[in-house]
Amino acid sequence: MNRRILAFIILLLLPLAGFSQISIRIFARSKPASVIFTPESGVFLLRDGAAATGVRLSQGDVVVITSFEDRVIYRTRSGIFGAADSIAFTPASDGALFRLRAPGNAEPEKVLNGKLTVRPFPGSLQVLNFTTVEESLPGVVRAEAGKLGPSDYFRAQAVVARTYFYRNMERHSLDGYNFCDDIHCQVYPGVVTDSVIVNACRSTAGKVLTDRDSLLIEAAFHGNCGGETASSADVWLAGYPYLVSVKDPWCSYSASFTWRRGIPRADWDSFLVSKGITPGNEGALYKSQPGEGRIASRSAQGRSVTSEEIRLRFGLRSAYFSLAPAGDSIIVNGRGYGHGVGLCQDGAKHMAEKKQGYETIIGFYYPGTIITDIKNARRPARP
Ligand SMILES: [Zn+2]
Ligand SMILES: [Zn+2]
Repeated sequence: MNRRILAFIILLLLPLAGFSQISIRIFARSKPASVIFTPESGVFLLRDGAAATGVRLSQGDVVVITSFEDRVIYRTRSGIFGAADSIAFTPASDGALFRLRAPGNAEPEKVLNGKLTVRPFPGSLQVLNFTTVEESLPGVVRAEAGKLGPSDYFRAQAVVARTYFYRNMERHSLDGYNFCDDIHCQVYPGVVTDSVIVNACRSTAGKVLTDRDSLLIEAAFHGNCGGETASSADVWLAGYPYLVSVKDPWCSYSASFTWRRGIPRADWDSFLVSKGITPGNEGALYKSQPGEGRIASRSAQGRSVTSEEIRLRFGLRSAYFSLAPAGDSIIVNGRGYGHGVGLCQDGAKHMAEKKQGYETIIGFYYPGTIITDIKNARRPARP
């Protein structure tokens, strides 16, 4: 191979391999003005921005941190206190864990590993946890995939969540960190110890999903596809060759597979008017029958309405449904739960119960993709 091309390729691959360190903003949704730090196990060093030496903290110590104007104030149970531009808690022993909570906060407390920094943020605190992809993965997998299921279901979810991490490293680069702990990125409840999930993450360590050009994929997933996954082009207007519709025979056992809703005629009529359709003359919208497959859009009077628009307007469980007028309601017979794109969680779980390995599960829901080590993967220029 030409030497310059080789150098170029190495340059492209290097940054990802070195990216396993990540920063996650904790309590990103509630943005508390005060947090309480307690070592759970091991020893931590508390350092404020100005001090040359740190304060040793171990089990039983409590540090209360509060924002005050553009400073943070901290106070330990033993009476040490100070004010600083920022403070940091660094682990001083292997495997050290700490507990973090925000008084009066609706978000539950978290057990975390790695380093923590706290800075003032307008009206609140910016709390950042410095950890690694692999150490935070079990928590993310449990939050996104649930607690119960067979190993290969969690292995598939681990590869999907890891792929998301590496593909979206720059999601919060303007804010000065990598990810938030909320649904905007991936929900991070902290360190978890569920052994099936921890083992699923370990046994797939470093494995991610790429397309044939070694680019990390958009690894979308949802609760239940209703028997047929949706193409991303229909839902998000962005098409990917691996996010195409596949017929799914695996998820019909689930309670989410079918659902039914009635929409009051008056609400439906005002929706039609907002779409430029005159009520009373919209019969063309009702042609499809349940089981005929997904319909991306319907039209009447020369105006078209997408299933996604109807789903959002009426808060439906999915965009896979048929519509039928009945007296003063519109009956919606639906299938599945969620946007329907990519991996179907109910189907993946059932595949794993039937002894299909995680590679087979991934190949089924993301056709044409490759499971590979992160060192062989590249991040798309603009995900
Ligand atoms: Zn985010
Ligand atoms: Zn499905």
